[in-house]
Amino acid sequence: MTQEIDLIIKSEFVRAFKDGYPLISKESIVSWDKVTEEGCILNLFDEKKKFILKAYHGVQNKGYGWALSTNKDEKINSTFFEKKIKSALKYRKDFFTDKSTTAYRVLNGEGDGLGGLTIDYFDGYYLLTWYSLGIYEFKADILEALKNSVEYKGIYQKKRFDSKGKYLDDNDDFICGDKAPVPLLVKESGATFAIYLDDGAMVGVFLDQRDVRKTIRDKYTHKKTVLNTFSYTGAFSVFAALGGATKTTSVDLAKRSLRKTIEQFEVNKIISKNQDIIVEDVFNYFKYAVKKKLLFDLVVLDPPSFARSKKRTFSASKDYVNLLKEAIQITKKGGIIVASTNSANFSMMTFSDFISKAFRELNGRYEVKERFSLPKDFKVLDKFKEGNYLKVVFIEKIK
Ligand code: SAH
Repeated sequence: MTQEIDLIIKSEFVRAFKDGYPLISKESIVSWDKVTEEGCILNLFDEKKKFILKAYHGVQNKGYGWALSTNKDEKINSTFFEKKIKSALKYRKDFFTDKSTTAYRVLNGEGDGLGGLTIDYFDGYYLLTWYSLGIYEFKADILEALKNSVEYKGIYQKKRFDSKGKYLDDNDDFICGDKAPVPLLVKESGATFAIYLDDGAMVGVFLDQRDVRKTIRDKYTHKKTVLNTFSYTGAFSVFAALGGATKTTSVDLAKRSLRKTIEQFEVNKIISKNQDIIVEDVFNYFKYAVKKKLLFDLVVLDPPSFARSKKRTFSASKDYVNLLKEAIQITKKGGIIVASTNSANFSMMTFSDFISKAFRELNGRYEVKERFSLPKDFKVLDKFKEGNYLKVVFIEKIK
């Protein structure tokens, strides 16, 4: 039986929760020390003992729990989770009928009323990602709910929390059904991606960039030279090549990126030896490119929000301006910089300021061509803007 705890919300936080703010912080609760086990249910009241909402306790970098329901009598069981999953599926029903894209998100955490959990779909296989021990405590009910809601070939999971020695018997990524082919080939906007559901934390492609990749292919790369920095498995390079790029150059410091990128080209019938794939620190590559006077028509910048390498740490909020300045210097006049960040620490407005600062410091000029944030399947709440972490700006370098 899941433990339930009654708690009082501090008065200054009541309004936000009533309006639908989903994230529970320690600071918003009068006596948080009553809360012990992750996975317990929190019944939150205002100071006059009026019920406000039901939540669960789970520790994530973002906070201490997520809202679940505004109904005091709601039972948090498989029926509850089934309702959430079914409404999430309904919201994405057009994705299920689109044969040209077979990989997308079907449940996006708090955006679909279930903070701490995402569910992605890969051509018949479902991948659950658990972001806290708290949500993982509901695994049996959530799994039952998913099985009742979809036809599946197989179900996989990723645990993105420190289980502190708990659940050592359950460290498999594969949960049930049939195992997926290795790799599993999925479609995105008609292109192909090789996906690995059971090979570490990442599966080979970041689904949230789908609209950006399509735009790069369809509008910006015909007969263009393309530099893709922080290229990972080369997904942007693949779309650039499919869009008719004369050549792509992918740069990533992880050794695995070489074979992973070759594979993504080859599953798309692109001859990879005609493309440059470079395993190196991006900042060294910039120096090399400047020395060799290399100039590109399109440069993609998509760094992690934080990374530590042997020589330096990179933090998007501190170092993006410098990254842009490096990129501007090796972009042709009239060329495009696709500046992307998944850092939830700053807004689109701040990101736009970074861009303007970088050009100003180089005496340059630019025009913003288009902007992207998360695609439709990564549903976000109006009341929780931080959930829309993705910011992508297509910038034309004028001078
Ligand atoms: N743009 C990619 C995803 C990038 S993930 C895509 O859309 O698929 C971040 C990548 O940055 C990782 O593959 C990591 O190896 C790489 N990386 C981190 N720091 C780096 C650095 N200093 N130089 C080159 N690559 C770096």
